[in-house]
Amino acid sequence: MQIITGIILAIVVAALAWKADALSTSGGVAAAITGGLIFGLGGIAWAALLLTFFISSSVLSRGFSRRKAALAEKFAKGNRRDWGQVLANGGLGAFLAVGTLTTSQPAWLWLCFAGAMAAVNADTWSTELGVLSPTPPRMITSGKQVEQGTSGGITLAGTLAALGGASLIGSVAMLFKPDPAWPSHLGLIILAGLLGSLFDSVLGASVQAIYWCDTCGKETERHPIHTCGSQTRQVRGWGWVNNDVVNFACSLMGAILAGGIWLLLR
Ligand SMILES: [Zn+2]
Repeated sequence: MQIITGIILAIVVAALAWKADALSTSGGVAAAITGGLIFGLGGIAWAALLLTFFISSSVLSRGFSRRKAALAEKFAKGNRRDWGQVLANGGLGAFLAVGTLTTSQPAWLWLCFAGAMAAVNADTWSTELGVLSPTPPRMITSGKQVEQGTSGGITLAGTLAALGGASLIGSVAMLFKPDPAWPSHLGLIILAGLLGSLFDSVLGASVQAIYWCDTCGKETERHPIHTCGSQTRQVRGWGWVNNDVVNFACSLMGAILAGGIWLLLR
């Protein structure tokens, strides 16, 4: 019954998001599958975290659109999320949801999922709100001041936004799965989310593939063709590490930290 309800709910949410232009067609299909697994197998608490991430990040990516329009070209993709972005943010969660089919249903599995969702939510909040920072970002690795929108650049505003995004996921997790040890669980989820999003910035500053457009004289994540129509060439990072790979690694780091620290300290 839960599985059927979950699948129907996931299809309805994905269809609404597709209709609202928050998801491309491939993104809608991917969201229906990952959402169906998470809602159907994980149940209400898992569904609550995925929906909190999905709704809050969609609202934030729509907000302040005029101020962000100038930066849109820097990012690899626009506001409509495709299947790669959906799997990068929710793929690990869907995989963990399959783990609930085991009879033991260990506590660390839920914490891994909450940590993964906290990390991707923190990362999305810092990306969407960090662009509003009054001060220019600094590279997380070198501390050097960089242009707004540069992969690997962080600001105080963006880091506080990450803390907010992780805290929201942690709070919703405590609301739907109350536990006598809730303060430590909440702290763990927030820490995992914040560190996961900072890990995302470290990857953005080091191994993520970054390109250069000779026509515009600008750094970009877009490849092979820039928004202006010119070819871009790689200037740093590894070719296969695109934004989706980095986001997936961010969710993996959040999951490993939340589940791992809990296992170490219990
Ligand atoms: Zn260009």
